[in-house]
Amino acid sequence: MDFKDKIRVIEDFPQPGVRFKDITTLLKDGPAFRAAIDRMAEKIREQQVDLIVGPEARGFVVGTPLAYALGVGFIPVRKAGKLPAETVETGYSLEYGKDRLAIHRDAIQAGQRILIVDDLLATGGTIQATLNLVNELGAEVVGAAFVIELTYLNGREKLPGDLDIFTLVQY
Ligand code: 5GP
Repeated sequence: MDFKDKIRVIEDFPQPGVRFKDITTLLKDGPAFRAAIDRMAEKIREQQVDLIVGPEARGFVVGTPLAYALGVGFIPVRKAGKLPAETVETGYSLEYGKDRLAIHRDAIQAGQRILIVDDLLATGGTIQATLNLVNELGAEVVGAAFVIELTYLNGREKLPGDLDIFTLVQY
């Protein structure tokens, strides 16, 4: 299946000059959504991860079905101020803006093997911040998986060289 056919490109969203990759058109297509998750799960299975960590909000949409498919737990990373228990926080820059992310301090045990999942890799800022949070908890990030990679933003180059990165489609 060519997953690019299922992803809609919206011009000038959320700012002029940005060509936003809209995955809602992939998500509403049941067989395509399932095929996308199955393909990603197949790739990830060999990494033998203990947990999947995904940043809000689209990291939840892709990360939770992947966790279910692999039979591992899912840990949410949220914008600061949203998680109810004690958190660890970090600041980060986005393709268009700045923000703070948080994770529950007791979500991950030191030494666990973690896979980070999001819908899209752009500049890599979101994933770098998520990685920092996981590292602060003493766990090992073994890989990252995305539905989409915007190769022209070189996000991959900002991430540690030993990280196993899988992306389903590239622009
Ligand atoms: P980065 O931090 O790598 O620059 O940006 C990636 C984050 O921004 C992801 O969490 C992703 O959801 C969001 N994002 C940035 N551009 C797009 C886009 O074109 N389409 C979608 N679906 N998300 C985007």
